[in-house]
Amino acid sequence: MSRVERDDPVLLLREDLRGFAGYRSARMEASQGQVWLNANEACTRADEDDDDALRRYPAPQAEALVDALAALYACAPSQLLVGRGSDEAIDLLVRAFCVPGRDAVLATPPVFGMYAVCARLQGARLVDVPLLEEADDFRVDFAAVGDAAIAQRAKLVFLCSPGNPAGGPLPAGEVLALAQRLAGRAIVVVDEAYIEYADQLSLTGEVQGRRNLAVLRTLSKAHALAGARIGCVIGDPQLVAALRRCQAPYPVSAPSAACALAALRPNALAATRARIVATRHARDALRSALSTVPGVRRVHPSQANFLLVRFDTPDAAGAAFHRLLDAGIVVRDMRAQPRLDDALRITVGTGADNARLLLALRGGAA
Ligand SMILES: *Cc1c(COP(=O)(O)O)cnc(C)c1O
Repeated sequence: MSRVERDDPVLLLREDLRGFAGYRSARMEASQGQVWLNANEACTRADEDDDDALRRYPAPQAEALVDALAALYACAPSQLLVGRGSDEAIDLLVRAFCVPGRDAVLATPPVFGMYAVCARLQGARLVDVPLLEEADDFRVDFAAVGDAAIAQRAKLVFLCSPGNPAGGPLPAGEVLALAQRLAGRAIVVVDEAYIEYADQLSLTGEVQGRRNLAVLRTLSKAHALAGARIGCVIGDPQLVAALRRCQAPYPVSAPSAACALAALRPNALAATRARIVATRHARDALRSALSTVPGVRRVHPSQANFLLVRFDTPDAAGAAFHRLLDAGIVVRDMRAQPRLDDALRITVGTGADNARLLLALRGGAA
C-alpha cells in the first residue's frame, strides 16, 4: 500500500461499519422542489410556529451553517461535521472506531470526563496515560502516550488543549509529531473547546494532509451558546463522511442552527472577540487574586476561562467549597478525582461574580 492509502482513516473504522450507508433521510433525497410530500411532515404549520420555521425537518448538515463554521475555523466544508456539541462528536468517534470489547480509547487524566464515559458506553477499553505533574503543573507525556497507544492498540487518542481542568495548552509540535507517529494506527483527536481563550492558535489549519488528526471545536464556551448545542469535528473528509453515516438523521435542530448562524455574523463575532479579551483579562486578574487567598497553595496558569485552584490540604479545599456554597456560589468540586483531592475548578465570572467569590473565600460576608 502507498503511504497515503495506509494513512486512510477509513481503514481504522470498525470493519463492520465500512460498507455502512447509515439512514437515508428524506432530506437527503432531493434538494429542490416546490411541493414536498416525502417526509410525512404536517401540511400546515402550528399556530405557534409563526414563520413556518419548525414544520419541516431540518437539513442534516445545513449548508449555510457548515460554510460559516468552515470559514470560522479556516477549513474546507468537507472537513467539518456539525453536531450537538463536541460531546456528540466524541461519542460518534468512539462508536465509529471502537469495536466493543476489543478496541481502546486513550485519555490523559486528569482530563474532561466524556472520553471515558463514551468509551464505557461503547464497551471500549480505556487506556489511561496520566498527565505528568512537573514543576507543580500538568503536562502530557507524549512519548508515553505514543508508546501506550501502539502497545495497547488504541484507535483514538484524546488530547485536550487547553486542558480541562488545569487550563494548560499543549505544544503544537508535539501533538503533530504524535499524529505522525500514530499515522495508520490511531486517530489523534484534539479537543479545543477553550482554544479561543488561549494565546496559541488552533490546530484546525494543520488537519489538511494529516489524515489521522481531528480537532473538536464548539460554540458552547467562547461563543456563549452552550444551550444551542453546536459543536463540530474537523478532520479528513473521509473521516467526516464516515462519522456522518453514524450520526442521527437530523442532528441539529432548526432553532439551534439559526442561533449558531446569528452568532457567526460579523457583528456577533466582533462582540465575541471583545468578550474573549475581557474574559482573558478577568482570568489573569482572578488568578493573581486567588493566589493571595489564605489556604490557596497554587492556581494553575490557565489559557482557558477557568482556573484550577489547589489548596494547602484536602480539608482546606472542602472548607472553601462549602464556604462558597453557603455564599450561594457554586464551583466545581474536583476532590473525588485522583491527584486532585485538594482542588476546585472555578469558572471565570463577571467582575461582580469574581469579587463576590473572592470575598466569600476570604471569609467575608457574601
Ligand atoms: C465543555 C467541554 C466540551 C463540551 O462541549 P459541547 O460542545 O458543549 O458538547 C468539550 N470538551 C471539553 C474539554 C469541555 O470542557
